[in-house]
Amino acid sequence: MNIEKLLRDNIRQLQPYSSARDEFKGEASVYLDANENPYNAPYNRYPDPLQWKVKEQISQVKDVAQENIFLGNGSDEPIDLLYRAFCNPRIDNVVAIEPTYGMYKVCAGINDVEYRKVLLDENFQFSADNLLTACDLYTKIIWLCSPNNPTGNSLNRKEIIKLITSFEGIVVLDEAYIDFAKEESFMEKLSKYPNLVILQTMSKAWASAAIRLGMAFASTEIIAVLNKIKYPYNINILTQKKALTILKNHGQLKKSVNLILKQRTILINALHDLSYVLHIYPTDANFVLVKVENPTTLYQYLVEKSIIVRNRNTVSLCNGCLRITVGKPEENKILLEEMEKFGI
Ligand code: PMP
Repeated sequence: MNIEKLLRDNIRQLQPYSSARDEFKGEASVYLDANENPYNAPYNRYPDPLQWKVKEQISQVKDVAQENIFLGNGSDEPIDLLYRAFCNPRIDNVVAIEPTYGMYKVCAGINDVEYRKVLLDENFQFSADNLLTACDLYTKIIWLCSPNNPTGNSLNRKEIIKLITSFEGIVVLDEAYIDFAKEESFMEKLSKYPNLVILQTMSKAWASAAIRLGMAFASTEIIAVLNKIKYPYNINILTQKKALTILKNHGQLKKSVNLILKQRTILINALHDLSYVLHIYPTDANFVLVKVENPTTLYQYLVEKSIIVRNRNTVSLCNGCLRITVGKPEENKILLEEMEKFGI
């Protein structure tokens, strides 16, 4: 796998911006190199452009080398950067499962890159062969998401491996919801596959969507490319500091995930009892996709009761479906009470 060859020419040739913090990395007593204001410490200083302290913690929690970690302003940042690094606008294309998380398509649009969708089957699974058939010489990236949003299921591991090993471009596996899943993460297979990029995020199981911290894990070659083209100080100091405290208390993650998983079972059992619920799709995430008789009327009814779920009725293969995030016990109770009343 030659990552250099896959890159756009302009990115391969790019001389990246070298910031003051890049040029001098040691500890000093007087900093007069970055045109900062000397007052208002510590917020007067630019943050570490490569966020080494945060990466050190992530490295321990995830058992992966710091050189294999990229941090972005949410996972949305590496999604966009991967297009910018590998896809020549109007020439190259990407292939993705459908339905899936909407930002892969939006970022393709922003970058003027053709986005090829391949429909999942009736169990929301994909076939590696079908995705490979949709590829041509100009296909640079394949997008997978497992557990998938909005369907909630994990994708078949054998097919994922078949795809990674057969495709000669980048395979992105978005594991935003992996901490809720029975299936194991692909993290431990990372070193085996130089074309694999795994996306994870602090926004879901880590309960920290507000700090905007997304993680991409990949070979050192791919991580170096993302670092080369990112904004110099893409992760601000408030986020870096907060991330450090969250990561140090990582025992909390298991607790809240377990609470959510228990609530998910309670929610699913109660939804089964509603006569207008036609199907509850198996889920490995912190949300449930539910097929109902009158999705839009129910959606509107819930809005009037000040309860917001996601109407996925117009999404491919999700006709009739609402996507419901598992909340706190009291929130799920309010939802279920209103859904029971709607049925009467
Ligand atoms: N990937 C998936 C599959 C998602 O569903 C979402 C958000 N809903 C994201 C990524 C975005 O995560 P972040 O908050 O890290 O940008």
